[in-house]
Amino acid sequence: MTYKIAILGGGPGGYVAAVRAAQLGAKVAVIEKTQLGGTCLNRGCIPTKALVAGAEAFRNVKKAGEFGIKAGNVSVDFIRLMERKNQVVERLRNGIHYLFQKNKIDLHQGTGKLISFKEIQIIKEDGTKEVITAENIIIATGSEPALLPSLGCDGEMVITSNEALKLSMIPSQLVVIGGGVIGCEFASIFAELGSRVTIVEAMANILPSVDKEVARLTQSLFKRRGITVKTKAMVKEVRKRGPEMTVLLDNGEEVAGDKVLISIGRVLNNRGLGLEDLGIALGPQGEITVNDRMQTNIPHIYAIGDITNKMQLAHVASAQGLVAAENIMGLDRIMDYKVVPNCIYTFPEIAGVGITGQEAEEQGRRVKTGKFPVMASGKAQAMGETEGFVKVLADPDTDLILGVHIVGPHATDLIGEAALAIKTGITAGQLVQTIHAHPTLSETLAEAMEAVHGRSIHT
Ligand SMILES: Cc1cc2nc3c(=O)[nH]c(=O)nc-3n(C[C@H](O)[C@H](O)[C@H](O)COP(=O)(O)OP(=O)(O)OC[C@H]3O[C@@H](n4cnc5c(N)ncnc54)[C@H](O)[C@@H]3O)c2cc1C
Repeated sequence: MTYKIAILGGGPGGYVAAVRAAQLGAKVAVIEKTQLGGTCLNRGCIPTKALVAGAEAFRNVKKAGEFGIKAGNVSVDFIRLMERKNQVVERLRNGIHYLFQKNKIDLHQGTGKLISFKEIQIIKEDGTKEVITAENIIIATGSEPALLPSLGCDGEMVITSNEALKLSMIPSQLVVIGGGVIGCEFASIFAELGSRVTIVEAMANILPSVDKEVARLTQSLFKRRGITVKTKAMVKEVRKRGPEMTVLLDNGEEVAGDKVLISIGRVLNNRGLGLEDLGIALGPQGEITVNDRMQTNIPHIYAIGDITNKMQLAHVASAQGLVAAENIMGLDRIMDYKVVPNCIYTFPEIAGVGITGQEAEEQGRRVKTGKFPVMASGKAQAMGETEGFVKVLADPDTDLILGVHIVGPHATDLIGEAALAIKTGITAGQLVQTIHAHPTLSETLAEAMEAVHGRSIHT
């Protein structure tokens, strides 16, 4: 049998593409070497958010006294917390298997490699081989944690995000090398669970990709929570000293920890796929080069997700998957990266969409800024979560919303409204004309839009 589409990798890019293609009538095969759901479900988005939810529950109980609730001495049962995380992941993974059955998608378990323009060889766990044929191929093989040989990752004391999600004990002292999104999420989780955390970041501030004011506030809130942040600090070496590890910095400082988490980025899963043999074009980082229809230089071979290195986010991988599947099935879709929300699940949460303050400066673009403090929100006061702000960047001539950046409770849920506003071309003035329910956190967004015109009511 020749499949209409064969998809290499069953992460949020691959499995979403498979479901959409099947909905449109295609016979689809997915080749997956580990587990359906990919990094996102098994080693990324979902397990980390299950841990965030556990840490948040602990945090809420610890501060229950503020609300007049006597919770007594509370402690964390870390084994149970991890079990719950595994249950959440398993439930969702079973959900994907169900979707495959429902949509009659064939799952081929094994490691796939392109051996011709229309054939994929699959090596199964027992070493046996199978070759399947497809009219179209989508490559969705994702990425893995990046390592540096000098840091000597042993998977026990020096670990990556993969092992951090399998720990059996809360580290007493955790050193996080790399203050990007993943490093900050783990730092925030373990600090809340009781670890003494130090972040070592080579750049001038943590979270270099987010709006500068957001990064600065987050850094100071981290410090208030007891997280030590060392910026402009390069790690020279990680050494084992008895039961501890010592991280040596280039300025001569030493940081000790019982666990060292390396979160310095991701490498693309482009090896052993047969890409070079088929002449599939790669970019400077080894990413598969695609057009905005997600086609590689070989028109019936597509690539989606982290392997395209556009934005390493699950929702981008899925959106690219929908575009690829629909184009193969004869619909005409292009991928638009202009409005992609970026969420960081720290305490408090961070979310942004559109241009940042520094991007506006770099582009020499004039903007009007409106800012509203979370502290001034009735709902936030009632919740006892008052840290943060909402910042809006708008075009001074047209009033169009160009960027929204939020630090505060439920920032990751609030950003959806901002993304819709930017995507549909709503102005700051128009957004305010929609009545926002009181008391809700969404009022902070409306107030920040008012602040663009100097008319915020509650500041
Ligand atoms: C700790 C952590 C937290 C994260 N949190 C978030 C978050 O909150 N929000 C967000 O948007 N993103 C988050 N991400 C990023 C997100 O997980 C990725 O962007 C997303 O999973 C990429 O999807 P993908 O389908 O391209 O690849 P992947 O999810 O990596 O899936 C690729 C799949 O291909 C399989 N595969 C690879 N090679 C082969 C082969 N030769 N044959 C067969 N199968 C193969 C792999 O086993 C894997 O299952 C996080 C990542 C990490 C590490």
